[in-house]
Amino acid sequence: MSKKTAMETKSTEYLLEVKGLKKHFDVTRSLFGRNKQFLKAVDGVDLMIKKGETLGIVGESGCGKSTTGNVITRLLDATAGEVLFEGEDLMKLNKKEIREKRKDIQMVFQDPFSSLNPRMRVFELIAEPLRTHNIVSGSALKEEVYKLLDVVGLDHSFARRFPHEFSGGQRQRIGIARALALQPKLIVCDEPVSALDVSIQSQVLNLLARLQKEFQLTYIFIAHGLPAVKHISDHVAVMYLGRVVELAPTEALFSRPKHPYTEGLIHAIPVPDPTLRAKTEGDLLEGDLPSPVNPPPGCHFHTRCPYAQEKCKIEEPKLLNTTDEGHRVACHFPLEAGHGVIVGTT
Ligand code: SF4
Repeated sequence: MSKKTAMETKSTEYLLEVKGLKKHFDVTRSLFGRNKQFLKAVDGVDLMIKKGETLGIVGESGCGKSTTGNVITRLLDATAGEVLFEGEDLMKLNKKEIREKRKDIQMVFQDPFSSLNPRMRVFELIAEPLRTHNIVSGSALKEEVYKLLDVVGLDHSFARRFPHEFSGGQRQRIGIARALALQPKLIVCDEPVSALDVSIQSQVLNLLARLQKEFQLTYIFIAHGLPAVKHISDHVAVMYLGRVVELAPTEALFSRPKHPYTEGLIHAIPVPDPTLRAKTEGDLLEGDLPSPVNPPPGCHFHTRCPYAQEKCKIEEPKLLNTTDEGHRVACHFPLEAGHGVIVGTT
């Protein structure tokens, strides 16, 4: 195989590759724009997703996970970096090209009520993307909308109603039907179950999992807690103050976390039997998230890390491969297997 062919093979190994992605917001308040200040919402993120897989992105509010999703889908423009979708850099596309690319990349939002136009009936909401992209019209359009209602488990009679007439779970199904209309390859799900009751959450998660198999979908699944991503993700990226601090296959991340922040997030998951919380006591995640406008130097997590040393305050740790395949961590002193880790998390 020639060198060029080998590189081409590598570049198409992933449906999506994110390299050095940055999104900085100018938050300068001083008159005449002196002393520029930037909120570094996303500050050098690297991610990759294979076709048909789900990448979970987790972290506390303000860690930059939703901004990452919005930049990947070009709802926001990046400050720097590349987002390669099937090898093509989405950051270089103009507005017209991006509109065309929306057929392949869709979003499902946290609050379906605010993302669905309250004045449009369900039929129009689902038909809108099909009309905008001239996919179908007339009786074929009606058929397609009804098919999409079937796919997400909603009755055809719902097509005549307005969003406010539905429960949160039903509204999220409408949002999913709308996202599916253009037969996308990638769906970015931004906290799709966070606003729903626990019993409804699992129904929506099961629906997303079924649709993934049926339509060979690839998901980015953004959530603020680990439990929601555990059941749906193949890999999980943990973000802290605009950076990915750990990226690993889901099972490895939960059973052998290497970053102290991930360990803290796992420890914060409620367990039904407190005796399962065997090896560590107390809350590992103390203190608030520092301001992303003025993050701590070196390792951003050093102000909250129980294992911080001098080096952590000075030198930024890079996201590096570990000896475990596919497991990357950004920590000068990654945790050893079993160190300080709770057993039997749900
Ligand atoms: Fe903690 Fe240091 Fe690792 Fe940061 S680099 S997570 S402060 S041990």
